[in-house]
Amino acid sequence: MFDLTGKVAIVTGGSRGIGRATAITLASRGARVLVGFVSGEEAAKEVASVIETAGGHAEPARFDVADGEGAARAVGEHAKRLGQLDILVANAGISIDALLPRLKTEDFDRILDVNLKGAVACAKGAIRSMMRAKRGRIIFVSSVVGEMGNAGQTAYAASKGGLLAAAKSLAREYASRNVTVNAVTPGFVETDMTGALTAEQKEAMLGVVPLARAGTPEDIAAGIAFLASDEAGYITGQTLRINGGMYM
Ligand code: NAD
Repeated sequence: MFDLTGKVAIVTGGSRGIGRATAITLASRGARVLVGFVSGEEAAKEVASVIETAGGHAEPARFDVADGEGAARAVGEHAKRLGQLDILVANAGISIDALLPRLKTEDFDRILDVNLKGAVACAKGAIRSMMRAKRGRIIFVSSVVGEMGNAGQTAYAASKGGLLAAAKSLAREYASRNVTVNAVTPGFVETDMTGALTAEQKEAMLGVVPLARAGTPEDIAAGIAFLASDEAGYITGQTLRINGGMYM
């Protein structure tokens, strides 16, 4: 079950956190993985080397998802070069938190450029090859915040909610080509992104998680690997919540 042998995957933001765990998990199931990164070249190389050492296949791939057309082009070129692209995990994301009076327009724009427009641009780059192959898996990494909102995260929540709507639209658009488009919505996961939270903020978060622990990047990667597999072929336009019960 969930064998990805012979598949080619791109994971954006694959150098650390959820993306890193996803790249390693997909590779452990047999996929050749392009580890997307924009700045952390050393980290991306380290992920690729962990995969290669374990007997898998991986390579780092630099492109900035916020450069919409450039990102689409980069994904398309990788697909062409490798002769196929079966799985796109649009995981790259940023958060800049602020209450509304302090929310800067440029920060709002930046969040949308990376989290929402960046993910859709990567899908645009992937779709031609997937349509031709009549198979493909696109997985957007959204957030529980995109479903339930969060004070101080209006821009982030809007970007992540937008991804859920985009996934449904693309799912309808490409179902006839056997390309599925789904999203995962992680809850609170221990990564660099959440590392800046204070101990009190973390405690408050965990207080609303029935499973009473933070998620690990591997918890999220497991759900993504499932959605990427052949076995998930009848699932499209859906949101897989991986949040310890925080939102049901
Ligand atoms: P992280 O900050 O550790 O990783 C984010 C990754 O995205 C990094 O590799 C970074 O280099 C990359 N990235 C950022 N901007 C980029 C750009 N312009 N182009 C290419 N890559 C770029 O965070 P993480 O916690 O691993 O988050 C991964 C995804 O999961 C994000 O989309 C995040 O919003 C989402 N998420 C995280 C949590 C959590 O609690 N950590 C919860 C819900 C959703």
